[in-house]
Amino acid sequence: MASFRSFHIFDRMGRGVPNRYVFARGRGPRMESQKNGQEQNSRKAAMDTFQISRDRMVREQLIPRGISDRAVLDAMRRVPRHMFVQDALRYKAHEDHPVPIGFGQTISQPFIVALMSQMLQASKGMQVLEIGTGSGYQAAVLHEMGLEVYSVERLRELYFRSSDLLMRLRYRTIRLKLADGTEGWPESAPFDRIIVTAGGPSVPQPLVDQLADPGLLVIPVGSERRGQRLVLVRKENGSVSTEEREPVAFVDLVGSHGWRQGP
Ligand code: SAH
Repeated sequence: MASFRSFHIFDRMGRGVPNRYVFARGRGPRMESQKNGQEQNSRKAAMDTFQISRDRMVREQLIPRGISDRAVLDAMRRVPRHMFVQDALRYKAHEDHPVPIGFGQTISQPFIVALMSQMLQASKGMQVLEIGTGSGYQAAVLHEMGLEVYSVERLRELYFRSSDLLMRLRYRTIRLKLADGTEGWPESAPFDRIIVTAGGPSVPQPLVDQLADPGLLVIPVGSERRGQRLVLVRKENGSVSTEEREPVAFVDLVGSHGWRQGP
């Protein structure tokens, strides 16, 4: 009986090695260690593979259009943008347009991420609040710029997905919250900088209240949905001024101080 079984295995494998041996000493442990290694090095591997795409994105889409803030350019060269989109869209992640991230939301076009990050005129160590975590990409860029990042998302699925991804990519000091971001993050206010990555009908008052003095806030504002202008709000010596900038097209800012309905 025993000899029949080993003959059978020998015959099927085409090698004189029992099946159990191949599995236990060969494939099994090797796959395990590859998996652990992959998880530990996921950020490093991602940084190597898509580095050429990111360098090209910076060279062709950002620098020629006036992005010159070194911290922004370096951050966007570093953050593995392809990890923040669905698998099937990885090779499109660096193209010059927004990319869907599910639930009717998008990760902004690289140039818009860069432009808003540059408008913040931030310096290292500043405390920044982002409204609309989405994929987590903008939050990672702000983190790589040396800022202390707080980010709020209202959709549960995106909140959990981005929390998980930012943990795996070792962006562990980014603080995330599931809430209506138009109310800000009062417990951690004031913020030196605030960036809103969804478009609302007006500037939410709680965000102006939670802005430090001096402080800057960037937000897409427009009475039309999907068509806004970037607005730069400046708080200085107790007074608040606003300046209208580039036309943009963002998904809706939905909340008590935004549009009333959304997904
Ligand atoms: N910054 C994101 C892209 C934002 S897409 C990135 O880098 O991927 C806009 C996001 O804003 C969506 O995820 C949407 O759910 C979220 N959002 C809309 N209204 C919000 C609100 N009131 N509070 C928090 N998040 C909001």
